[in-house]
Amino acid sequence: MCGIVGYLGNRKAYPIIINGLKRLEYRGYDSAGLVVMEDDGFGLVKTKGKVSELEEKSKFLNNGSTLGVGHTRWATHGEPNDVNSHPHLSNDEQIVLVHNGIIENYDSLKTELIQKGFVFHSETDTEVLVNLIQYFKDKENLNLTEAVRYSLNEVVGAYAIAVMDKNDPDEIVVARLGSPLVIGIGDNEFFIASDASPFLEFTKEAFYLDDGEMATIRRDKDIDIRKIKDNLKVTHTVQELKINLEEIEKSGYEHFMLKEIYEQPKSIRDTMRGRLLVDEGIIKMAGIWDYQEKFLNAKRIIIVACGTSYHAGLIGEYLIEDLARIPVEVEYASEFRYRNPIINRKDVVIAISQSGETADTLAALKLAREKGAFIYGINNVVGSSIARITDAGSYTHAGPEIGVASTKAFTAQLTILSLIAIKLGKHNGNLSKERFNSLISELDNIPELVQKTLENTAEKVIEISEKYKNATNALYLGRGYNFPSALEGALKLKEISYIHAEGYPAAEMKHGPIALIDENMPVVIIAPRTGYYEKVVSNAMEIKARKGQIIAVVNTGDTELSKIADHVIEIPNSSEEFSPILAAIPLQLLSYYIAVKLGRNVDQPRNLAKSVTVE
Ligand code: GLU
Repeated sequence: MCGIVGYLGNRKAYPIIINGLKRLEYRGYDSAGLVVMEDDGFGLVKTKGKVSELEEKSKFLNNGSTLGVGHTRWATHGEPNDVNSHPHLSNDEQIVLVHNGIIENYDSLKTELIQKGFVFHSETDTEVLVNLIQYFKDKENLNLTEAVRYSLNEVVGAYAIAVMDKNDPDEIVVARLGSPLVIGIGDNEFFIASDASPFLEFTKEAFYLDDGEMATIRRDKDIDIRKIKDNLKVTHTVQELKINLEEIEKSGYEHFMLKEIYEQPKSIRDTMRGRLLVDEGIIKMAGIWDYQEKFLNAKRIIIVACGTSYHAGLIGEYLIEDLARIPVEVEYASEFRYRNPIINRKDVVIAISQSGETADTLAALKLAREKGAFIYGINNVVGSSIARITDAGSYTHAGPEIGVASTKAFTAQLTILSLIAIKLGKHNGNLSKERFNSLISELDNIPELVQKTLENTAEKVIEISEKYKNATNALYLGRGYNFPSALEGALKLKEISYIHAEGYPAAEMKHGPIALIDENMPVVIIAPRTGYYEKVVSNAMEIKARKGQIIAVVNTGDTELSKIADHVIEIPNSSEEFSPILAAIPLQLLSYYIAVKLGRNVDQPRNLAKSVTVE
């Protein structure tokens, strides 16, 4: 997590860094800092808190400096305070560094450096690295690039770093392993950033540094890229970025999350564009088509993911098993990677991650690859680490998601999983031509139904959010395809309102959670009129008998559950396979409005960050 931004060129560096940090703030926001190269050395300010506080404290640095780097932190080692904030200085104050990631062997390196006389001011792992660079620079009489390379070869862990030397006002050295870093190239100017958002108005020409690479960026010179391990020279082709500035702005919405919720008719359409060709009666997905033998002969598909993407994976399990009859297992990437899983060459492992940088998912995928599985990625960010290491994959094309709580990326993931399941079901003969055609024309209509859901549920949801905003707990129940919807609804509420919530399969309630039900417990029941509807109605009766407050998410025209429920939210009718996409909408809105009414920071909820690039 954390955002890094840097500039070297002919413009003033300070405004580029401050504005860049504001755009990267979704990645981490417990502290921020920046350094610009001034005539007499480093101008450095850092502070606990948001980028706006940094801006307040650092205005005096808005001078003519044309070189600098900034950082917005999501603390891993050491609490968020002024001292632990980045940038960090070496003991001799000659070298300054910002870091995204974790230096895992920082403790042993720190002990060695202390024995050599180094002093540490912060509790961070990062300060060890900057001092290690000083150590090698002095001991071996190296230039900055060489000292960085020597040091990184001693480091175990994950990093994206940017380093500057006080004696060299024309150079930044950057490197990455496991954390993203993109380099933007303008006219005699260079930008570095964790994602491209800080420099989109200046240049669209960029390339991503690969894992294990470092680059020396010098004023008026070509960038020198090398492998960290053996110093071999590397070249990268510069690509034209496809993102627009408008996509990363709020466009009049109060929060990114609300904008992203309302973008879903479009983002789902974008996910299907060029893939779902209803008139021709086909689903075109090169990643599946080119490797269909792998999928169709797969002994099983294993989906690995974290958080909201994990919930999408669970729904993917229902979809693929139902429509293509291929066995699917879904696992938390963080568990999978460490539990010595049995993986065969005939397994297909699908990794789902919005950012494509999620550290646990990336590690799980690498493990699967080592064991010979075919690996497939479902990501939103083009050029991400997962996209680059997989054998094949599908981008969700939902556009940049900035709100920390995932919304449009989730429904885009469900759309991709639906396409994959239907396509495989057709190819392995599990779906008749008629069933295939009816599924694809229904899927094609989902963006319209999402639009209707937004229009028809928002008002009701606002009313309900007022009533339950002071609840301290909530239960979310669903069955079948909508059991994962319940998990996702509960996660959304927890993430942004800080209200404790649990998602449960409705029938499991009587095995424990029913003990929690009383007149103060709101219970959100997701029960479209498909699947196990009658069974869910019985579960609802059990809750009502214990005076629980029921908020029912049902299909238009529902009669049974609506009679029992205290509040009814109607979503359009659809096949069960697509109901989680529609059910997600009011659940997202409910968590959003409760959080807003509680005065929470919706786009930047406490303790969280957007792309989780640390373990
Ligand atoms: N490990 C570093 C720290 O705790 C960097 C964290 C980050 O990626 O923001 O300061």
